[in-house]
Amino acid sequence: MEREVLLQATHLVKEFPAKGHKRVHAVSDIDLTVYAGETLALVGESGCGKSTLGRTLINLIPATSGTVKFEGVELTALSRRAFEPYRRQMQLIFQDPYASLDPRMTVRDIVAEPLETHRICQTREETTRRVVELLEAVGIQKEFMGRYPHQFSGGQRQRIGVARAVALRPKLIVCDEPVSALDVSVQSQILNLLKDLQGEFNLTYLFISHDLSVVRFMADRVAVMFLGRLCEVGDTELIYKRPLHPYTRFLLDAIPKADPRLKDEEKQLLQGEIPSPIDPPAGCRFHTRCPYATNWCRSEVPQLRELDGRQVACHMAGEI
Ligand code: SF4
Repeated sequence: MEREVLLQATHLVKEFPAKGHKRVHAVSDIDLTVYAGETLALVGESGCGKSTLGRTLINLIPATSGTVKFEGVELTALSRRAFEPYRRQMQLIFQDPYASLDPRMTVRDIVAEPLETHRICQTREETTRRVVELLEAVGIQKEFMGRYPHQFSGGQRQRIGVARAVALRPKLIVCDEPVSALDVSVQSQILNLLKDLQGEFNLTYLFISHDLSVVRFMADRVAVMFLGRLCEVGDTELIYKRPLHPYTRFLLDAIPKADPRLKDEEKQLLQGEIPSPIDPPAGCRFHTRCPYATNWCRSEVPQLRELDGRQVACHMAGEI
């Protein structure tokens, strides 16, 4: 069955100016499709550009070049004003809910704010009714509406952040490490909440995480990123069972398990320093850490290609 495309990035680039007229190559030539109703995880080590990619995809920060289409409309070509109706369709859930909730506002006002900004309700009473519904949907009792963020636990604060994110009934939510600041015991509650709400609110998630166990639980598909480029994209179970890119294998091998796939000498190299995004290696950006690197890898950028049911960007994939 043809899946409905919600968001599509083509040749997406995001660079930031750095000292000495240099540039940080945070996101380089990314082609990525997000399908309606799915959870697509973006994974990679910290500093690989996944948060920047998430924010560029929803036009929260402007792309340097390339295009992003949302339901077929090219967001990157819209004026600020023309983009406004699309902004509410795309929301962000942050890693640290405490930092994203205004400490001087009550929970009622925090959740009501997007409703008021977008004039969703006619009266204050109607707004409060919507806030109560949203708080109930995320498991916060309405009696707590008058409290302030510091009066809640980390897990409860993330629930409030989620209520605020779904208030405008968005189609897409970028969840940026939504549970990594929480205790492990609370993490699964929030992940289950996100899953429940996905069905209830018809949501599509772009789920950014460095935690491969969390990703396996949450994601239908996964996109592995290294130093601003995609390495491998495909169905979660397929990639976890049979990773083809050396970097994906390295990430999966870091999950504790009885029978590690990689040999010790491979591991040593793979664990090396991540090169700087200011001066990334030529050719395959992973070549300085890859045990299979050849001269071809050092000179030519491997493009994503279809192989064995997924997309992979490695010259040697299928042979190593
Ligand atoms: Fe390693 Fe070459 Fe594949 Fe890059 S293209 S991951 S350097 S084998």
